[in-house]
Amino acid sequence: MNTKPSFAQLRRDIPLLNTPFKGSPLVYFDNAATTQKPKAVIDAISTFYAYENAPVGRSIYTLAEQATSRYEAARETVAQFLGAYDATEIVFTAGATAASNMIATAWARTQLDSGDQIVISALEHHSNLIIWQQLAFSCDAELVIIPVDTYGILDMTFAQRCITKDTKIVSVSHVSNSIGTCIPVAQLATWAHAVGARLIVDACQSVPHGGVNVQDLGCDMLFFSAHKIMGPTGIGVAYIRKELHEQLSPYQFGGGMVYSADYYEATWRDMPYRLEAGTPPVAEAIGLAAALDYFTTYLNPQEIHSHEAALTAQLIQGLQRIPGIHILGPIEQQTEQRHIVSFVCEKFHAHDVAAYLNSYNICVRAGNHCAQPLADALEIPASVRVSFYWYNTHDEVTFFLAVLTKLMRT
Ligand code: PMP
Repeated sequence: MNTKPSFAQLRRDIPLLNTPFKGSPLVYFDNAATTQKPKAVIDAISTFYAYENAPVGRSIYTLAEQATSRYEAARETVAQFLGAYDATEIVFTAGATAASNMIATAWARTQLDSGDQIVISALEHHSNLIIWQQLAFSCDAELVIIPVDTYGILDMTFAQRCITKDTKIVSVSHVSNSIGTCIPVAQLATWAHAVGARLIVDACQSVPHGGVNVQDLGCDMLFFSAHKIMGPTGIGVAYIRKELHEQLSPYQFGGGMVYSADYYEATWRDMPYRLEAGTPPVAEAIGLAAALDYFTTYLNPQEIHSHEAALTAQLIQGLQRIPGIHILGPIEQQTEQRHIVSFVCEKFHAHDVAAYLNSYNICVRAGNHCAQPLADALEIPASVRVSFYWYNTHDEVTFFLAVLTKLMRT
């Protein structure tokens, strides 16, 4: 017998979704930006601050030792969630943006020679684009962009051709935050490894929905932000495969990462501490672990995927019936497996649509979704983005479609 609570029952665990906002229920469809938090996550953080707060990794009194154990247990929880070999492969950062910047500075900067290639996709969020653009400038490397077609699907023929012996790094998002395209990462890993290059995955839009395993993907590095999987802001994760640890140099200097120091020289601790200078985000790590525990206890990836796919199918069918709406991205993929749908309206700018929806307490994102070059490539000034998570309901989609229809009839 299935004793797991249903999504509808679990939704009651999220205070913000069960509290009237401006006097009526909130429809939260901005989950690609950030997700709402179950009470268990909020409680784990406030309990830590109320009764368990202490510095980690330095002091030998019991309270500090307990805090250190909790912090390291959180690292272990993340390692298991991602299928990492062990917890030394997990580095805590301030977020996904901090993680991509860390990977570039602590590793890639020392690996690139003049004329080497960095391959990324045309779908990247600015945080997995600008850092490579800037690194390519400073290392005299070449930035190669795998293009997309008019549906936003990656040109895999181009990808196979452009990954050559000059390629050192391939860095792509698993799922586009802007239009929902899913990139065949495992295939890119095979091509990258065949020429001795390394594959980095921006998993911000895939990890939160579960089922992401670093061994299955074959990636060398992967990163995401905790706040997109029900965890707190201020913490992100970089997974770095063990065999690359020798190639990592510290990128920030301070306490916690030093093995030994005198006034003129210092040596570094092993991974992951070498990359965690200063007091780490302890409460945030505990909050992230609580979010992952909540996920593994109550949710499962297959059920999330099929629920979100059903919501996406309902949304797309509804949008297709409203004259003057154009859906972006690979609709087939979206209906089958994904949770992000972006569209433009002929009559209204995306910001005006979002403002109108807001007057009905519906939260969506409007703009270029921090992927301006992609919007330019698709020749779209701005789009409206709906992004689902497991707690969204068919009633919310029905309400959304009714409000949008009303707007389009004005
Ligand atoms: N990559 C992708 C695909 C994202 O969706 C986001 C957040 N929108 C980021 C990176 C950056 O995450 P953060 O702002 O939490 O650092």
